[in-house]
Amino acid sequence: MERLQKVLAQAGIASRRKCEEYITAGRVMVNDVTVKELGAKVDPAKDRIKVDGKPIKAEKKLYIIMNKPKGVITSVEDPGGRKVVTDFLHGITERLFPVGRLDYDTEGLLILTNDGEFANLLTHPKHHVPKTYHAKVKGVPHGSLLEKLAKGVKLEDGMTAPAEVDYVDVDPAANESVISITIYEGRNRQVRRMFDAIKFPVEKLKRVKFGPIPLGGLTRGKFRHLTPDEIKSLT
Ligand code: URA
Repeated sequence: MERLQKVLAQAGIASRRKCEEYITAGRVMVNDVTVKELGAKVDPAKDRIKVDGKPIKAEKKLYIIMNKPKGVITSVEDPGGRKVVTDFLHGITERLFPVGRLDYDTEGLLILTNDGEFANLLTHPKHHVPKTYHAKVKGVPHGSLLEKLAKGVKLEDGMTAPAEVDYVDVDPAANESVISITIYEGRNRQVRRMFDAIKFPVEKLKRVKFGPIPLGGLTRGKFRHLTPDEIKSLT
């Protein structure tokens, strides 16, 4: 449930202050009853809201892909004042929320939307949306260790499901490598914990693909709207 003036403002009726004036002036009806108190709460998905007798439009659904930088919280606000992902959505006035999360220190592909059903679908464990990460580690893990990651490793919260794992870049001179891993689950800090399990702690983690959508050339900190075909391909 949300405050009536907020719902009106989000539907693009006017500023929140102006919407408060409309309410107290008796111009707003909820389920055919005039509501004049500013404290009224409504369910924007269910209640029929009218201003001057005209139904308000449902909030436009937005679907955004961003390249989250490291050092940013996957949240819409932080009481501690740290940077959050929505700080990067310049020009977007709708209230979006992230679909799943990336750790503070992880960068890469993050989807944001105001479509709750879409978000639930993609984050529900039953859906097994594949997510691909590039993990940079010190040294070069032996192929047998990558096989172990692919088959499943034992974590505190149980065995991991089969994953796809491969070398992306091996640099023996610099004594480092980048490994690609695709997982079909979304446990907390899962990729980092999987690499901890083979004793190759992750030094840098980037999500490069979510379902069929690659991060592509999206610059760090930038975002774009998903195309209708991309949205369809995710559900
Ligand atoms: N796995 C991790 O360990 N961290 C992330 O941010 C995402 C997946």
